Amino acid sequence: MADTIFQKIIDREIPADIVFEDDHCLAFRDVSPQAPTHVLVIPKKPVESIDQLANEDAELLGHLWIVIRNLAQELKLADGYRVVVNCGADGGQTVDHLHFHLLGGRALSWPPG
Ligand code: 5GP
Repeated sequence: MADTIFQKIIDREIPADIVFEDDHCLAFRDVSPQAPTHVLVIPKKPVESIDQLANEDAELLGHLWIVIRNLAQELKLADGYRVVVNCGADGGQTVDHLHFHLLGGRALSWPPG
């Protein structure tokens, strides 16, 4: 898999507003925020999308959800938030490195476009 923009952020080749990092994941603010709080949570493992997840990634995914829960608390999204994972062209995925959008800070409409 070719280096994506997110791999370059992991490797510190391009800057990002990083809000959390550990051995397994990185969280940083989206460059084009769609809500007052818009953070992307990504695994450091280069998984392209949900479709490329392996069964052995189950523990990693569980970890990502716990990180998202902790970030929602730290970023004070007490009134609620949304977690979105776009997959493939019809899903609106534009960066081929699995990422979770954490969106909050305003009331979000439903259904999405
Ligand atoms: P997708 O459309 O693939 O679900 O989401 C990709 C997200 O990455 C978009 O919300 C877009 O604004 C964000 N993004 C794209 N390039 C960069 C970048 O260089 N830095 C940051 N922080 N976010 C980016």
